[in-house]
Amino acid sequence: MSTGRAIRTLGLVHLYRTEGYDVAALSGVDLVVGAGEVVGLLGPSGSGKSTLLALLGGLFRPSAGKIFVGDHELSALGPAALDAFLARETSLMLQGAQRNLVPYLSVRENVVFAQEAARRLGADVVGVGDTLALVGATGFADERPAHLSQGQLQRAALAVAMAPRPGVLLADEPTSALDRSARDQVLDAVLRVNAELGTTVVLVTHDPDVARRLPRTVTIRDGRIGGEGRSGEEYAVVTADGFVPLPAAVRESLPPGTLLHFEQDGGRWVVVPEVRGEEPGPG
Ligand code: ADP
Ligand code: MG
Repeated sequence: MSTGRAIRTLGLVHLYRTEGYDVAALSGVDLVVGAGEVVGLLGPSGSGKSTLLALLGGLFRPSAGKIFVGDHELSALGPAALDAFLARETSLMLQGAQRNLVPYLSVRENVVFAQEAARRLGADVVGVGDTLALVGATGFADERPAHLSQGQLQRAALAVAMAPRPGVLLADEPTSALDRSARDQVLDAVLRVNAELGTTVVLVTHDPDVARRLPRTVTIRDGRIGGEGRSGEEYAVVTADGFVPLPAAVRESLPPGTLLHFEQDGGRWVVVPEVRGEEPGPG
């Protein structure tokens, strides 16, 4: 059983190799998530959220950069050690609840199955009933996935993810395609997991109502960290190599090539765009 683990990425880059060309899904992500923290990943479709989550969950290895979970660097672990570490420490809920469930097993049997797999890889596991109760799945524990609503499926997938009591829970759009009450039940269950077990949570969402209930959000834009929200305030984040992505609204008024002055005003830095005169003509 794990308590929440911190996550840290350094210069995370991921390319998908496809026929003829490569797609740069992540172009240098530096992200720190504290042990026991809940972070929402936001951003437009195709910005790299699922790729980042999959890398954190060890589904595949990054093209470049490092990932630390707790005291361990994932890329420094060999295949067998990595599998054992991931089984104990991280659970990834893939987008689409059904992908996380065995269709011919009941919810309870799915949790048992997940526990057995984790136990073989060295995880300590706890009672199945506790896990079902934690996520509010007791009432439909003996149903098979085909008989469940979308919201129940997500809570069943959450129970499976929490079966080995991982230090990190990664959930890809667990509340999308749900009506409001099902969405709130799933989010309540995720937040209860965090509050009761201290599990670190990274959750992808594009729902502003969900984002508002999270203490911290990180927006991914074009494979990079585009900004952060903390308690409703929006911030730009300086990358490890000193770049600062401009907030979208600022970007509109500062076209590419704009020169910026940094001036000190008391204890604060003030950014002053250079006002351009006539472009120098040729000759
Ligand atoms: P998001 O979850 O934010 O929608 P993804 O991480 O799924 O973004 O995708 C990031 C980028 O990588 C997109 O341009 C997407 O088309 C591309 N991509 C994702 N998966 C693959 C893949 N298996 N093969 C090729 N390109 C991919
Ligand atoms: Mg996605």
